[in-house]
Amino acid sequence: MSADSVRIKEALKILRDVLGQDKVIDEEEELYVYGFDATPLYFSKPYAVVRVFSINDVVEVLKIAHDYRIPIIPRGHGTSLTGAVVPISGGIVVDLSPMTKIEIKPEDGVVEAEAGATVAEVDLECNKYGFFLPPDPASAEVATIGGAIAEDSGGMRGARYGTFRNWVLALDVVIPGGKLLKLGAPVYKKRMGYDLMQLFIGSEGTLGIIIKAVLKIIPLPENIARFLVFFDDMENAINTLKDMRFSKINPLTAEFMDLETIQNINEVFKLGLPEHGISLLIDIDGYSDSLTKISERVLKILKENGAVEIIHARNEEEAKTLYAARRAAYPAIARRYKIVFAEDITVPLSKILQTFKEVKNIEKKYGVNIPTFGHIGDGNLHPNICIEERDTEAITRAKEIFEEICEVAIRIGGVVSGEHGIGIQKLTTFKRMLEVHNNLELLEYMRKIKQIFDPHNIMNPGKILG
Ligand SMILES: Cc1cc2nc3c(=O)[nH]c(=O)nc-3n(C[C@H](O)[C@H](O)[C@H](O)COP(=O)(O)OP(=O)(O)OC[C@H]3O[C@@H](n4cnc5c(N)ncnc54)[C@H](O)[C@@H]3O)c2cc1C
Repeated sequence: MSADSVRIKEALKILRDVLGQDKVIDEEEELYVYGFDATPLYFSKPYAVVRVFSINDVVEVLKIAHDYRIPIIPRGHGTSLTGAVVPISGGIVVDLSPMTKIEIKPEDGVVEAEAGATVAEVDLECNKYGFFLPPDPASAEVATIGGAIAEDSGGMRGARYGTFRNWVLALDVVIPGGKLLKLGAPVYKKRMGYDLMQLFIGSEGTLGIIIKAVLKIIPLPENIARFLVFFDDMENAINTLKDMRFSKINPLTAEFMDLETIQNINEVFKLGLPEHGISLLIDIDGYSDSLTKISERVLKILKENGAVEIIHARNEEEAKTLYAARRAAYPAIARRYKIVFAEDITVPLSKILQTFKEVKNIEKKYGVNIPTFGHIGDGNLHPNICIEERDTEAITRAKEIFEEICEVAIRIGGVVSGEHGIGIQKLTTFKRMLEVHNNLELLEYMRKIKQIFDPHNIMNPGKILG
C-alpha cells in the first residue's frame, strides 16, 4: 500500500469516527456518480464522499483534510458546465445537498438559505410572502444556492438583475483547518474594509466551503407581460431591444434562441414552437393597468422591427410554457447530441450581432452544428458546439472550435465566461483573455489570495488557476 493510500485510509477512519459511519461513502459504485458534472468528457473518481448535515460536519471535514493534505471538492448538485466539480486530483467530495434550511425574513427583505437548498426552492419560499430572488439560472430547479454563489451564476433575469454577486449580503464559510468565517452582514448597505465576502462569490470552491447565505430579495411584480417573438434574423432582434431601451422600456427578461435551438427543442420536447430565424423571449413587469399600455408600445416596436410571429401569453399557463421552452434549450441540445461543448462568452451589447455572425461563420466553415441561445439582454451568448460521434478527431476539432469562439469574444472586447465560470474547461482561454485585456500577473495576485485561505492548496485544486 502506498504512503498516499495509507494517509487517505487513516483520514477516512478518523472522519468515520468523528462524523459517524453513514456520512462517509467510499463504495465504488457510489463514488462513480460523483466523478462527473454536466460537462462532457471530464471524469475522475474521488477517494470518498462525505455527506454533510451541519456546520459542525463541514468544520470536522476541513480540519481533517487540512491535517492530512487531502483535496476537498465542495459539491452542490453537479450541474457545472466547466468541469468545476470534477475531482481531478481525487480527494474527498463534500456533498452539501442535505443542508437545505430556508428562512425568509420579509420585514428585512432578506432570505437566509443553507448551501444545499436549490435556487428554485428558495425562490418559491420567497414567492409565498410576495417576494422573489432575482437571479434565475435556467438550471434553477436543480442548482444549489452554494453552487450558484460559488459560480456567481446569472440567468434569465440577468438583463435587469445581473448575477448572484449583486444579491448576496452575508456568507458563512468554512476554510481549510476548520475555521468558520462570518463574512458580510445581513443589511443592504455596509462598509467592512476589504470585501472578503466577494472573493468567495465566483471562487468555484477553491477558497472554502459556503454553508449559508443571506440574500437580498425584492417584491414580486404585480404582473408580467410575456412575449415569444420570432424574427427572420438576429439584426431585427437586436434592433428591437435597442429600440425598447431607447423608449425607456427596461425588460425583466431578454433571452434569444436561434432556429437550430428551437428545432432541437421541438424535436426533443415536441413543443411545436414556430420555426423562424431568431426568437426572443421578453418579459415586461409592472402594475396590471400600466402593463397594458407598455405592452402596446412593445408590440409596436416588435412590428416596426419586422417580427414575423408574436406569441403574447394570454394567461399564466401560457406564460409558464413559454418560459419553460427557453429553460429547455440546453437540455434539448444535450439530449439530441452525443457531446456538447457549451460556450459562455459575453460581449459588449453593441457587439452581439458581430459576435453572433462570426459564430455562424465558424459553424459554416467547420460544418459542425452550433445551436446558439443566451441572455441577449446582458450580452451573454451560449453557442453550443455539438458532435454526433465520440471519435477522437471530432472531439479535437470541437475543442479547437471552442477556443476559436473564445478568441472571437476576446478580440471583440468580451470575456470567455459570463456565468458558467472557468473550472478546468476554460483554463487556457481564461489565461489568454487576461493576457490580452488585463495582465497575466493578475494570476499571481489570485494565487496569493488563495494561499491566505488555503495554504496547502487542498480546496478544489486545479480549477480556475490550473
Ligand atoms: C441545463 C443547465 C442550464 C444551466 N443554466 C445556467 C444559467 O442560466 N446560468 C448560469 O449561470 N449557469 C447555468 N448552468 C450552470 C450551473 O447550473 C450553475 O453553475 C449552477 O449554479 C451550479 O450549481 P450546482 O449546485 O450544480 O453546483 P456544482 O456543479 O455542484 O458546483 C459548481 C462549482 O461550485 C462549487 N461549489 C458547489 N457548492 C459549493 C459550496 N457550498 N461552497 C463552495 N463551493 C461550492 C463546486 O466546487 C464547483 O466548483 C446551467 C447548467 C445546466 C446543466
